[in-house]
Amino acid sequence: MEINGYTRTCGVFGNPVEHTMSPAIHNTLAGRMGVNLVYVPFHVPSGKIREAVEGAFALNLLGCNVTVPYKSDVIAHLKEIDPLAKKIGAVNTLVRLEDGFKGYNTDMPGLYRAMQEDGVEIEGQDVLILGAGGVARAVAMLLADKKATGVYLLNRTLEKAEQIAQEINALTRKEFVKPMALDDYTKLPDQKFICIQATNVGMFPNTDAAVIEDAAFYEKLTVGYDLVYQPAETKFMKLTEAAGGRAFNGLKMLLWQGVIAYELWTGQKVGEDDAQAAYLAMRKAMGLPEAQIQE
Ligand code: NAP
Repeated sequence: MEINGYTRTCGVFGNPVEHTMSPAIHNTLAGRMGVNLVYVPFHVPSGKIREAVEGAFALNLLGCNVTVPYKSDVIAHLKEIDPLAKKIGAVNTLVRLEDGFKGYNTDMPGLYRAMQEDGVEIEGQDVLILGAGGVARAVAMLLADKKATGVYLLNRTLEKAEQIAQEINALTRKEFVKPMALDDYTKLPDQKFICIQATNVGMFPNTDAAVIEDAAFYEKLTVGYDLVYQPAETKFMKLTEAAGGRAFNGLKMLLWQGVIAYELWTGQKVGEDDAQAAYLAMRKAMGLPEAQIQE
């Protein structure tokens, strides 16, 4: 694509941001769809998110993604916030308005879209979430919204699971989320679950770890959905598959959150072929061997 005087800029604010896969998504989509747009990483130093948002607006950026550690902090610097992002308490996409940016959360719609594509049905299901960080909280909210029956939220630090349970149960007006200490997984009811892995455990470079190592735990899972995507096959996924469950990584969630953001910025609908091309570009950017990129 030729960069000229009409080229619009988008990017991602983060710290660190160097390993982001988002440029592969957006530059592939823009190139294939003939949109004069470039997408670049912006390393935002600690304490400088306000300056980054104001600077992006002053420089006429079309939109931005926001990643760790700024998804909550950025909210104070927006003109508007979408109701879903407000409910979740995290913004990962900024869309330019006349007088500032509007914040959206495309992570959760992205995860939902990925699960639908993977044939993972949430409605009427009992779900386990491992972890109680920002993403786990948002996932619990998504599951309430999509009418899962209930959630067991297991975390190393029990107080954080309790805090999320309290917040979400107040919204749902029932005991939708049951908090548990991670080590108490043996006390789960004797039944099958969909399990969403929302801790950092198993992420590159510590790939030989799973948040629960006990093979007996995985006998309970029909589906193991790891939100980690680097490596493409985590130890959690291997343990799930070894026990007969279906396993997925977080790469499709990352793809669809990007596609939804791109649609918000450009007003253009992304077709299946273009989304697939962006997915392959991400897998290539991850450094997967050529033979595995198409899998
Ligand atoms: P976060 O707020 O930092 O939370 C991290 C969670 O991991 C906490 O619950 C923490 O437990 C737990 N944890 C960390 N180390 C652990 C260990 N050694 N043993 C047990 N638990 C441990 O992180 P986040 O923003 O929620 O992100 C969580 C994961 O989601 C990350 O792996 C990230 O890559 C992934 N993610 C994926 C996508 C995607 O598009 N696929 C998007 C966003 C995030 P404590 O509370 O006890 O510390």
